[in-house]
Amino acid sequence: MARLREIVRAGRTQVKGLLRDQRLISGIGDAYSDEILHAARLSPFKLADSLTDDQVAALHSAIVTVLGEAVAEARALAAERPEPHPRLRMRVHGRTGEACHACGDTIREVSFADSALQYCPTCQTGGRPLADRRLSRLLR
Ligand SMILES: [Zn+2]
Repeated sequence: MARLREIVRAGRTQVKGLLRDQRLISGIGDAYSDEILHAARLSPFKLADSLTDDQVAALHSAIVTVLGEAVAEARALAAERPEPHPRLRMRVHGRTGEACHACGDTIREVSFADSALQYCPTCQTGGRPLADRRLSRLLR
């Protein structure tokens, strides 16, 4: 938790980018960073160094919960069948257009870096959809 606060305070980067940065935190990719931000109710574009202590705590607990569940699930699946399994039980990642399990709002997608991310506007961005930077650049 203290270490996470250090990492978060160190860089003026968007929290989604920070979670994906393997130099800072290893092992969290596109899918789980979407899940963690949804669980922490944080906008993926929020600047990491603007997070309050409460938000850092929520982020920390979301990382522990989401990754803990993923590991438990992977173990359970591996015990059943030894082959690799697709990631299951994603709540927002890859679910564009579906209803959010927490609030029922529609899960949206926005471009991020070289790919896209999924999020719930009601849970994460105060109900406002994020502007797609790639699209607005094209329209300008
Ligand atoms: Zn929601």
